Amino acid sequence: MRKLQAPRGTLDVLPPDARRRLDVVAIAGEVLGRAGYEPMETPVFEDTELFARGVGESTDIVQKEMFTFEDKAGRSLTLRPEGTAGVCRAYIEHGMHKLPQPVKVWYAGPFFRHEAPQAGRFWQFTQIGAEAVGSDDPTLDAELILLLAEIFERAGTGPARLRLSSLGTPETRADYLEELTRFLRARESELSEDVRARLDQNPLRAFDADHAGTQAVMAEAPRLVDRLTPDDREHFETVKAFLGGVGVDFEEDSTLVRGLDYYTRTVFEFESERLGAQAALGGGGRYDGLVEELGGQPTPGVGWAAGVERMLLASDRPGDEGPVDVFVALADGGASRNGFFMVQRLRQAALRAELEQAGRGMKGQLRHANRIGARVVLIIGDGIEVKDMETGEQRVAASVEDALGMVEELLA
Ligand code: AMP
Repeated sequence: MRKLQAPRGTLDVLPPDARRRLDVVAIAGEVLGRAGYEPMETPVFEDTELFARGVGESTDIVQKEMFTFEDKAGRSLTLRPEGTAGVCRAYIEHGMHKLPQPVKVWYAGPFFRHEAPQAGRFWQFTQIGAEAVGSDDPTLDAELILLLAEIFERAGTGPARLRLSSLGTPETRADYLEELTRFLRARESELSEDVRARLDQNPLRAFDADHAGTQAVMAEAPRLVDRLTPDDREHFETVKAFLGGVGVDFEEDSTLVRGLDYYTRTVFEFESERLGAQAALGGGGRYDGLVEELGGQPTPGVGWAAGVERMLLASDRPGDEGPVDVFVALADGGASRNGFFMVQRLRQAALRAELEQAGRGMKGQLRHANRIGARVVLIIGDGIEVKDMETGEQRVAASVEDALGMVEELLA
């Protein structure tokens, strides 16, 4: 028979990696929980229109990367490519504006984007996300960035570069893009061919060019941060001052663009020095127009998402699997029934206990107990023997209760 494989762009998560993932999600839950963020879940698929309206018709995500399908009634559904739109839809649908504001939530789960698979980029991947909906207070922008940095720190992802910018309002942005395009047109002959070809679609790409002539032009190009309205500028300055005040290093980067249309004001991205081409660990920003765009009242919001697979690629932390307390071995003639009951008693006593379940000989069983790091081995035969795996000492127990007592003594 032909062997089946997992589909392209997907990832099997085997032990011990699956444990490391749970650890990372637990770290996020703890860090965010202390700041008042509550767990929340939304469906893995949504009406396609949610992402078309929320993320933006013209974005790569909506144009090229969505897994879209029809239900039996012919309605268009899409596997979620990101989490913010779903949270804002739920906020509106459940009247969450009536709750104390801001509503602070976090989530972790699978997301789907049809991008060219490569190291750190999959069709199905896992994001941890956090959102604060219902306030434009700049302490929220700073708090969320700080929380994400703390999660990376605790997950051991190593040094990361934090880029920060402000996009202002959609109007500021549209005016600025016109101004930048005019500026680039006026100096078109000095630009690389690549930048010239995409000038109308994405003039901002010119800021990332390697081409020396283009770089010389861009050094003099107008910058979006210099075109912000006084309110937006003050908001940005406040966020920066808060971050500086708690010692978070960041680089102000006016070329930072994110692949989603809903961002306003603050945007940021963390890049790991330990990852290759797909270096973004996580990022986010403010989306003060999104709830209204989805049919709710004008409501500000801010949030981020981080990729768990990339966090684990960058992390140097092993999964902290605890050692086995007791291995229950079966001597020749030892009834597996007795071993089965013994291991249940140990587990009821909140010990981590495993039973011989592979028919090994005694030598093989002791070797196995060693490999899994068992501190004590109980050998079930005619009676019960208790072996201290540290000293090698072996003693006979008078009863099951006696054996349990000896185990607790050794583990104390
Ligand atoms: P984004 O909202 O696009 O910035 O995504 C947030 C984070 O999710 C990124 O910084 C990545 O860590 C992760 N991510 C996004 N797309 C993928 C993908 N296709 N495969 C793996 N991780 C991804």
